[in-house]
Amino acid sequence: MASQHPIIEYTSQASWAMIEDKFSPYAKETLAKLIKFYEEEILPARKLAHAQLPTDEVQRWKTVIPVIEELKVKAKKLGLWNLFLSKAHYPEHGVPLTNLEYAVMAELLGRAGHMASEVVNCSAPDTGNMEVLAKYGSPEQQKKWLIPLLNGEIRSAFAMTERHVASSDATNIRTSIRREGDEIVINGRKWWISGTGDPRTKLYIVMGKSDPDNKSSYNQQSVVLVPTDTPGITIVRPMKVFGYDDAPEGHCEIIYENVRVPLGNLVLGWGRGFEIIQGRLGRVKFFLVEQRLIFFRRPGRIHHCMRAIGAASEALDTMLRRVTDPSRKTFGKYLHEHGAVIAEIAKSRAEIEGARMLVLSAALQIDKYQAKGALKEIGIAKFVVPSMALTVVDRAIQAFGAEGVCQDQELAKTWVGLRILRIADGPDAVHIQQVGQRELKRVPGLVKKAAELAKREKALFAKAGIKRARL
Ligand SMILES: Cc1cc2nc3c(=O)[nH]c(=O)nc-3n(C[C@H](O)[C@H](O)[C@H](O)COP(=O)(O)OP(=O)(O)OC[C@H]3O[C@@H](n4cnc5c(N)ncnc54)[C@H](O)[C@@H]3O)c2cc1C
Repeated sequence: MASQHPIIEYTSQASWAMIEDKFSPYAKETLAKLIKFYEEEILPARKLAHAQLPTDEVQRWKTVIPVIEELKVKAKKLGLWNLFLSKAHYPEHGVPLTNLEYAVMAELLGRAGHMASEVVNCSAPDTGNMEVLAKYGSPEQQKKWLIPLLNGEIRSAFAMTERHVASSDATNIRTSIRREGDEIVINGRKWWISGTGDPRTKLYIVMGKSDPDNKSSYNQQSVVLVPTDTPGITIVRPMKVFGYDDAPEGHCEIIYENVRVPLGNLVLGWGRGFEIIQGRLGRVKFFLVEQRLIFFRRPGRIHHCMRAIGAASEALDTMLRRVTDPSRKTFGKYLHEHGAVIAEIAKSRAEIEGARMLVLSAALQIDKYQAKGALKEIGIAKFVVPSMALTVVDRAIQAFGAEGVCQDQELAKTWVGLRILRIADGPDAVHIQQVGQRELKRVPGLVKKAAELAKREKALFAKAGIKRARL
């Protein structure tokens, strides 16, 4: 029997029983501390954080939300900081937690939206950027950018996607990155660059083409560190997500026009950009490049999936409170007395439990075998979990009627946050394709097994003296 850890209230006895023995005493203690911090500090501050973001079109992009900064100080003091960065993968900068242990913590944080992750310095896009710098940054790059990011002093953005380019295939990226003497010159137009609006964002990690004529389309790209105050950068506009601007971070369109940075700002080396970007997105692959098998050995990130389980769980809890509200009766019954409503609740619970298992198993695989041994699990989680969570949130919205789609409830914003995952965390069509292709690779083995079985069956029939099978 699993111990009575407070996490059971947020996940389930069964899932805790499956993973408890894989948690270190430190992880159990940190998780308990996180739950207390979540209940006593993060949750009560959520509405205040919203209220502290000005509605003024200009001011909302210049604001650092005070209560978030106050909570960051408290979280750091408690050791609830950079929980995502596993020491096993990042020995120098990481914390002694596994991906599996973090998965449970991220699920809890996912219940309280973007703010909760930021408070413990575990929010996108900084997490992926810190991983890039921790893995590939030079000592100077790490000192200048990684350390302030790890300390939560600055924020960062990752600039890959381009307006006129199908960017889910990173080989299409056109932004030009070229060397001129001791400098790198960047020209291009990016959009949907998350974090651009935040006044604390001091760094763009920019991906572009440095060698468009290279015969390998995977060696044409490079990644460069660009301070946000470099001349030649124009922020054109924040993009709106179903009408939300997501200020103060935002997702902006940016022009880089003759932007010059020192040669030392190149990450990893010329032509290594694709390697960096694939690892960052968790779409880890093998490529045959000039007869060399290149394997991108990086822990694939499934943080969005982990948080999406939490968002779905929170939506179900919200729905339960609504349908049992004694003041709401329709057609002579309370909402929860309608069979259709109970069915929606049961389906939601079942789907959350199933999806959590996918996420936990993917996290465990990453811990054991790195991303290399977890490609299937990562891919499946990335296309199953956001859709599952969307369905659950949609049911909760339905239970709230008109109130579910308006600003009085978190549900509409939660739905939007999940909907974008089906595009922004690598379009799910791409993950589906990759998982499908991996399945097809099993066919020769399956055919061989079927042939062996047919042989054994035939021998059995011969022995029994029966000519034809009857089914
Ligand atoms: C809110 C938000 C935040 C974002 N933040 C960032 C950021 O910080 N930095 C950044 O660089 N980008 C960011 N993006 C952009 C995001 O990464 C891209 O939108 C995504 O990679 C898809 O690229 P695209 O929009 O050019 O779509 P396209 O490449 O044009 O693809 C369109 C659609 O085609 C389909 N498709 C593509 N390939 C396949 C396939 N193999 N099989 C079947 N169907 C396929 C998919 O359904 C896909 O959605 C963000 C996007 C959003 C919405």
